Amino acid sequence: MSVLPLPARRAPARYYCEQDGWEFNPRYTEGACPICGWTPEGAPSAPAWLALSRKVEWDLIGLFVLFIVLTFCAVIVAHAAHLRIPFVGVR
Ligand SMILES: [Zn+2]
Repeated sequence: MSVLPLPARRAPARYYCEQDGWEFNPRYTEGACPICGWTPEGAPSAPAWLALSRKVEWDLIGLFVLFIVLTFCAVIVAHAAHLRIPFVGVR
């Protein structure tokens, strides 16, 4: 008989600030109480998708996509002009 491990305990989605009597979700308030600025220990400061997207270098991905698109356009133009490009296969 196998035993499945329990999922890791997640931080609660909402926190209660006793100073203000205010319940808030720290993922949407940059990890702090929106009224007094109290920061709960271990609270996430952003939603998971936003924390993941902040780790991605979007500039480099955009440059790479631009390079691919421009290369594709160059191959189309070269093909229409009957130019020969070595290593691409356009004759
Ligand atoms: Zn507060």
